[in-house]
Amino acid sequence: MDWAPYQRLAARLDALPNGFPPTEEGIELRLLAKLYTLEQAALAAELRLTKDTPAQVAARIGGDPEAIAARLAEMAGQRLIARGREGDETVYGLLPFIVGVYENQVPRMDAETARLFDEYYRAALAPTIAIEPQVHRVIPVNESVPFHVEIHPYESVAGIVDSAQAWGVVPCVCRLQKALAGEPCEHPLEVCMPISQTPGAFDGSAHIRALTRDEALATLRQAADAGLVHTVGNYRAGLWYICSCCTCACGILRAVREAGLPAAAARSPFASQVDAARCTGCETCASYCQFGALTLGDGGTAQVDEMRCVGCGLCVVHCPEEALSLARRPADAIRPVPVTEHDWRVERAATRGLRLDDVL
Ligand code: SF4
Ligand code: SF4
Repeated sequence: MDWAPYQRLAARLDALPNGFPPTEEGIELRLLAKLYTLEQAALAAELRLTKDTPAQVAARIGGDPEAIAARLAEMAGQRLIARGREGDETVYGLLPFIVGVYENQVPRMDAETARLFDEYYRAALAPTIAIEPQVHRVIPVNESVPFHVEIHPYESVAGIVDSAQAWGVVPCVCRLQKALAGEPCEHPLEVCMPISQTPGAFDGSAHIRALTRDEALATLRQAADAGLVHTVGNYRAGLWYICSCCTCACGILRAVREAGLPAAAARSPFASQVDAARCTGCETCASYCQFGALTLGDGGTAQVDEMRCVGCGLCVVHCPEEALSLARRPADAIRPVPVTEHDWRVERAATRGLRLDDVL
């Protein structure tokens, strides 16, 4: 096996702000070799985050533009690289491994890919997820923030749904991967929600089941009923998905449980608070908190560990006594959310000591 193209692609993916760290055993190379052919890896390693036409790629790296166009189209069809439109032209670019290539592999995920991903996740990937600004941030479940508390649309799941023009649902790649790796969890599978600013964006899609706005909200309610935590990309504008996550399967939240990284996802600007006069000490809230932030205090009522609380709101909506509510944290305890995905990349590249110019 010629590993050089996979080594180049792995280095290129790790040069992106998202990260794709190497392992001593080369697990990441075996994972790439499962997904990309040698030729595909060699070509993907030449792409940039900024998308180019096949003619521009051919001019940069040499080769027959038509053959390059065909290979790029094939890879985009397998969702290994990004594809877009610029005017009348189709353009292609590099896709980060997480969030990007991995999440797109639902149709191609098999037991071997699932096992390789799990091996890689445990060996190297989990700590990368918690680097600030984190990949995902938590959004409180609908109805968990009281009406009188200020909440910006980008902090609210209903606000994010309302800001989109198209909604869809796909099976959660994390739960699919864990099931194929022999560790299924009981949470619902079809709750991962792509959103778009283009009306009808998912109509006729082979991979995404289009939803109406109301169906999208109902799907999110179903996820919250099942105890799943909503997370989105860690920026305000141009959000393109809403995940509903669990610490048993989700690549992001598993880092909390397995790697002991409570800040694996950026917390919401809220924290849960208890009205002790209403609390009966039933501990229902603790059974829904995936972060171990709720315990019973000496007085037999619930207590919140604010350092562990990520402000997901699940305890609030499941408390039978309405004894819990979300309150906004003090301003100096709220980390500003980057405005755009590009701003997020700039900040994260700075944290990781990367030159973003090298991949743009
Ligand atoms: S679920 Fe509500 S009533 Fe039960 S322990 Fe938690 S806060 Fe108290
Ligand atoms: S206490 Fe737990 S369930 Fe409640 S908001 Fe905080 S993290 Fe979520």
